[in-house]
Amino acid sequence: MAALSATTSCAEILSGARRIVIKAGSSLLSDSQSGLLRHDWMASLAKDLVQLRQNGADVLMVSSGAVALGRRALNLSGGALALEQKQAAAAVGQPMLAGAWAAAFAPLGVVTAQALLTLEDTEQRRRWLNSRATLEALLGQKALPIINENDTVATDEIRYGDNDRLAARVAQMSGADALVLLSDIDGLWSADPHRHDDAAPIPFVQTLDETIMATAEGPNPGTNLGSGGMITKLVAARMAVRGGCTVILASGVDAHPITALSGGARSTVFAPSTTIADARKGWIAGTINPAGQVHIDDGAVRALGKGASLLPAGMTACAGEFSRGDVLAILDRHGAELGRGLASYAAHEAVQICGLRSEDIPDKLGYSARAAMIHRDDLVLLHKDRDQL
Ligand code: GLU
Repeated sequence: MAALSATTSCAEILSGARRIVIKAGSSLLSDSQSGLLRHDWMASLAKDLVQLRQNGADVLMVSSGAVALGRRALNLSGGALALEQKQAAAAVGQPMLAGAWAAAFAPLGVVTAQALLTLEDTEQRRRWLNSRATLEALLGQKALPIINENDTVATDEIRYGDNDRLAARVAQMSGADALVLLSDIDGLWSADPHRHDDAAPIPFVQTLDETIMATAEGPNPGTNLGSGGMITKLVAARMAVRGGCTVILASGVDAHPITALSGGARSTVFAPSTTIADARKGWIAGTINPAGQVHIDDGAVRALGKGASLLPAGMTACAGEFSRGDVLAILDRHGAELGRGLASYAAHEAVQICGLRSEDIPDKLGYSARAAMIHRDDLVLLHKDRDQL
């Protein structure tokens, strides 16, 4: 896709994209009064997505709605649900949701696939690679993945809780070049339009910086049946643009929301950051729960500052149950986080090689392995890449 500018239309973005992730929020899936699924609306979105596929793009969908549907089916109260109730509601609602999408796509000759992901599937590199391979295989078979968080097993400590960030991770994982976040909000505004008469829509964001993040402060406009307000949408957009993905934030309330976008409906487009290195660092920096920590000495702190890799010789301790490829937090001797990087060794190996010179590692482990604990290409430093952490 050519470089984006404020004048690039959504029609151009969507027709130029090779792979597109569409996220549909809970408030779109079910009717706010009756709580019933909006089958006609789903059929209209299915037609739009088939059109995108006919234009040559791979399409993945992240669909919310499991908890909302399940709580209605179980007659759970309108207030906040306890964790087990949410898990139970999702267990009931998810098959209803998946079935409804299968029915919406079947008349169009498209086979859908249900993919339920947990936070670990996107945060642990090994599982990330595994999930990515499954999504690739589905797309290779022309199935349309319908993705949700596996809310039935997710616990409050280990869950996304909102599908905006899940969709951003799916976009990164699948190498998508466009992510469309459909909700009941027609893009980003300079302030909450419900409270400020002078609020103005923001059609294009070149750099998603703190000024932009600050526009989301205050209550979330809209009905907010789902979990994500504007802040989570911006956090998600920031994750995705750092993966090299263009993000479109738009209203999906009316039928055929993608056709409407291509026809010029109001939205906010967030331009991607373009280099692969940026994308990789964004993935490392954006990890929500690093799998472990490595403590380093002052000499290693200085070496990292000069752009070196982290060698086992500079490690004083490490903690956590991590595998090779997992993200680690790098801490100085005061316990302050300096940065993050991908482990070249698993935890059981790392504890044995703490403080060792690289040439002594083969004797200790009984096999020759990598010289660095974290290679410089896999390392993001807080002071250099502050905006990424
Ligand atoms: N995963 C949740 C569900 O399907 C939705 C999360 C959200 O509201 O973003 O019910």
